[in-house]
Amino acid sequence: MSSIQVATVSGGQVAVDTSKLEKLSASFRGELLTSADPGYDQARTIWNAMIDRRPALIAKCTGVADVMAAVNFARENELLTAVRSGGHNIAGNAICNDGMVIDLSQMRSVRVEPENHLAHAGPGATLGDVDHETQAFGMATPLGINSTTGVAGLTLGGGFGWLSRKYGLTVDNLSAADVVTADGQFIRANEWEHPDLLWATQGGGGNFGVVTRFEFKLYEIGTQIYSGLVVFSLDEATSVLKKYREYGPNLGDDTSVWTVLRKAPPLPFLPVSVHGQNILVLACFHVGDATEGEKAIEPVRGFGTVLGEHLGVQPYTAWQTAFDPLLTPGARNYWKSHNFSELADGVIDSAVDYASRLPSDECEIFIGQLGGEVAGKMPEETAYPHRDANYVMNVHGRWQKPSNDEKCVAWARQLYKDAAPFATGGVYVNFLTEDETERVQAAYGPNYRRLRKIKETYDPDNFFRLNQNISPGK
Ligand SMILES: Cc1cc2nc3c(=O)[nH]c(=O)nc-3n(C[C@H](O)[C@H](O)[C@H](O)COP(=O)(O)OP(=O)(O)OC[C@H]3O[C@@H](n4cnc5c(N)ncnc54)[C@H](O)[C@@H]3O)c2cc1C
Repeated sequence: MSSIQVATVSGGQVAVDTSKLEKLSASFRGELLTSADPGYDQARTIWNAMIDRRPALIAKCTGVADVMAAVNFARENELLTAVRSGGHNIAGNAICNDGMVIDLSQMRSVRVEPENHLAHAGPGATLGDVDHETQAFGMATPLGINSTTGVAGLTLGGGFGWLSRKYGLTVDNLSAADVVTADGQFIRANEWEHPDLLWATQGGGGNFGVVTRFEFKLYEIGTQIYSGLVVFSLDEATSVLKKYREYGPNLGDDTSVWTVLRKAPPLPFLPVSVHGQNILVLACFHVGDATEGEKAIEPVRGFGTVLGEHLGVQPYTAWQTAFDPLLTPGARNYWKSHNFSELADGVIDSAVDYASRLPSDECEIFIGQLGGEVAGKMPEETAYPHRDANYVMNVHGRWQKPSNDEKCVAWARQLYKDAAPFATGGVYVNFLTEDETERVQAAYGPNYRRLRKIKETYDPDNFFRLNQNISPGK
C-alpha cells in the first residue's frame, strides 16, 4: 500500500496511507492535492513571492462539511496544519512545508441582507468580492485598501481602510462568525452564543478555529465618493508632512488622508518628467457629501507645490481598487511596521530620509491615518487592542529579483529601527513578517492573557499553531 509523508505537530513525519486519503476524498467535495497533481503549484503560491513552501497535502474546501472533514482528518493524524484564505499574509503562515493546508479560497460567496444592513462573507472572499455585493445596495463595511486581500485574514487581525475613521475597524463591525474548532465542532459565535469566541476573532488571528462565515454590519454610503491623490516632490516632503501633521487631527471622521512616499508610477495625471522621481503622495478620501469632502480636502492642495493631482467624485469600487496595480501578487516583499500616536519630527525625518534612498522602484513607506471611530473604543473591547495608533506606518519593502533581497530587507529594518523611539510599541498583527515572533505579544498587547485563556477553551492542544500564535494557558 502506498502512502505520503506528512509533517506532524510534534515535529516529526507520519506516513499517511493512500487508503486514508481515499476515505477522506470520499467525504470531500473539493480537491485534495499532492505534489503529483496539476494545480498543486498554483495552490501553494501566495501573494508574497518570498514564501516558497511545499505542503504534502492541500485540501481545497468547497463548504463547511469539507472544512470539518479536513480538520478531523488533520487532527486524527496529528498533521501540522495551515489555514489559507486570501493568501495575502506577509508572514506566509497560509502555507507550510510538508504539512497539510486547509485552503478556503474557493468559499468566496457573499450574501447581503439589505433590510438588516448585514453581509455574510465566505472565508475565501476577497475585499473586492465583498465590495461588489454590498455596493449593489449602495452599502459597505470598513475593509482594507487592496481589493485582492482576503477578508478572512484581514478581519481576524483587525482590518482597517478608508472607512475606518468613520465606522471603525472591520472587527468593530463583525457581528457574528461561524467557526469550526479543533475538535471538528461547528460553533456559531455572536453576542449571545460563545461571545468570548466572537471577541477573540475580533483581532486574535486564526488561533481559535477555522472561520467559515463572517457577518458584517453595513452602512449606506452610496456608490460615489470624493477621493483622490495629491502629489508633491520629496524635496518638499518635510514641510508638507509638518503641515499634514497639524491638519490631520482636526479632520472630521468622514475624511481620511494617508501618506505614501515612493517613486512616482507613470500615472496619467502626472507630467512625464515626474515619473520615476521620489514623491510624497497624500491619498484623500471622504465618505458622505462630496461638496463637504472637497472643502475638507482643499487645504491639502496648499501644503506645497503640487506636481499633479487627481481629485474628484468617483465610484467607491474604483477607489477601492486604485492601489491594486502597485500591489500585484508575485513580487518579493518584506515589511516592517510601527504604530504611532502622533507624527513626531523623528518619524518625519526618518521617513523622508529613507524615501530619498529607496533600494528598489517598488519600495514605499505607507502611513495610514486612523483615529476617529477606531479610537472610540477601549483596548479590551475587542481582541485588537491598538486604539491609540492614530498612524500606522508600513515600511513596505518590495522588489522583484532575489539578488536584491539583502539590500531591500536591510533598508526596511534600518528605517524601522530609526523610527522605533517614536512608536507606541504596539504593532498590527497583520503586518508582522515571519521573523518577528518576538513581537507577537506586543501585537496582542494587554489582551494577550485573556486570549490565552480562550485559546485553552477552544484549542487546548494548539492545533491551530501556524499563525501569530497564542499559546493556550489558564
Ligand atoms: C497588498 C496588501 C495590502 C494590505 N492592505 C491592508 C489594509 O489596507 N488594511 C489591513 O487591515 N490589512 C491590510 N493588509 C494585511 C492583511 O490584512 C493581511 O495580510 C491578512 O492576513 C490577509 O488575509 P488573507 O485571508 O488574504 O491571508 P491568508 O494568508 O490566507 O491568511 C492569513 C492567516 O490568517 C489565518 N486565517 C486565514 N483565514 C482563516 C480562516 N478562515 N479561519 C481561521 N484563520 C484564518 C491563518 O492563520 C492564516 O495564516 C494588506 C496585505 C497586503 C498583502
